[in-house]
Amino acid sequence: MTILEPVASRIDLHTHTTASDGLDSPVALVHAARAQGISVLGVTDHDTVDALDSVATEAGRLGITLVPGVELSTTVDRAEVHVLGYFVDRADDAFRERLADLARARVRRVERMIDVLHGLGYPVDGDAILAHAAEGSIGRPHVARALIAIGAATDVSDAFDRFLKAGRPGYVPRDPFSPEDAVGLLVKHGAIPVLAHPYSTKDIDGTLKRLVPSGLLGLETYYAEYSADQHRELRSIADAWDLVPTGGSDYHGAGFREGRDLGSAPVPDEVAERLFDLYRSRGGSA
Ligand code: AMP
Ligand code: FE
Ligand code: FE
Ligand code: ZN
Repeated sequence: MTILEPVASRIDLHTHTTASDGLDSPVALVHAARAQGISVLGVTDHDTVDALDSVATEAGRLGITLVPGVELSTTVDRAEVHVLGYFVDRADDAFRERLADLARARVRRVERMIDVLHGLGYPVDGDAILAHAAEGSIGRPHVARALIAIGAATDVSDAFDRFLKAGRPGYVPRDPFSPEDAVGLLVKHGAIPVLAHPYSTKDIDGTLKRLVPSGLLGLETYYAEYSADQHRELRSIADAWDLVPTGGSDYHGAGFREGRDLGSAPVPDEVAERLFDLYRSRGGSA
C-alpha cells in the first residue's frame, strides 16, 4: 500500500471569487475549500468585499473559519505591489465607499484597454467584459478572457504575455494609488495590512522600508507559487521585520493558473494562530 504524503494545507489565506476575477462564486469557493479539507479560509477579492456576506454564511454552515479580507492593487514603477487586508469590516460604509472608488477606476482602466485593443485591430467584446462590472470588480483577467474568445490568445497567461502585462501593447497603467495609501486605508479601517506575493515588488527590502512605517503588519511568506527556498528567505525577512508570516494559494478557480490550486500553499498552523492573536491584540473579537 502506498502512503500518500498530505500535500494540501488546511489553511489558505489568499483566494478570489467572481466578485473580482475568480471563476468560483462565493458559495462555490467555500464548497471547493471544504472539498480540499481547508478549515481556515481567507477570501481576498481585488478591491471589493462583496463576496464576504455569502462566504461567511456558507463557511458558517460548513464549519470553516473565515478570515474576511481584501487585496488592494498598487503599482510602483510598473511593478505590482499588492496589499492584502485581513479582518476587514464589511459593514463599514466609509471603507466600502473607498473600495467603490477603486472599482470605478478599474472600469475606466478596462474601458481604455478595450479602446487600445480595438485600435490595434482586436475586436474584443467590450460589452461582455464590462457586463462583469455588475457582479464585482473587473480587471485584466476579464479582458484576457475576451481575447481568448476571439482567438487572439490561447489562455490567460498567453493573453498577459502578449497583450496585457506592463510593456505589452494592450497595457494601460492604473490610476496612481500608492502602497502607502493602501496600507493607510486598511489601518484606518481596522484591517491588518500584509504585503502580498512580495517578489512581485522587485525590491522587498525597499518596499518594507516604505510600508512598515505606514503600518504594514505582515508579509505573505508561504505563497504557493514560490519555492521552499523562497519560503525560507521570506520567513527570515518576516522575522527580521517582526511581521506576521501569512500564506495562501492566490486561487482564482480551477485551472486559472498553474501552481495556484486551492490549499496548495504550505501554510503552517502557527501562522493562522499568530494572525488571529494579532487581530485579538488589536481589539478584534474572534
Ligand atoms: P488587474 O488587477 O486588472 O491589474 O489584473 C491583475 C490580475 O491578473 C492578477 O490579480 C492576477 O489574477 C491576474 N494575472 C496577472 N498576471 C497574470 C499572468 N501572467 N497570467 C495570468 N493571470 C495573471
Ligand atoms: Fe487576480
Ligand atoms: Fe495579487
Ligand atoms: Zn490575489
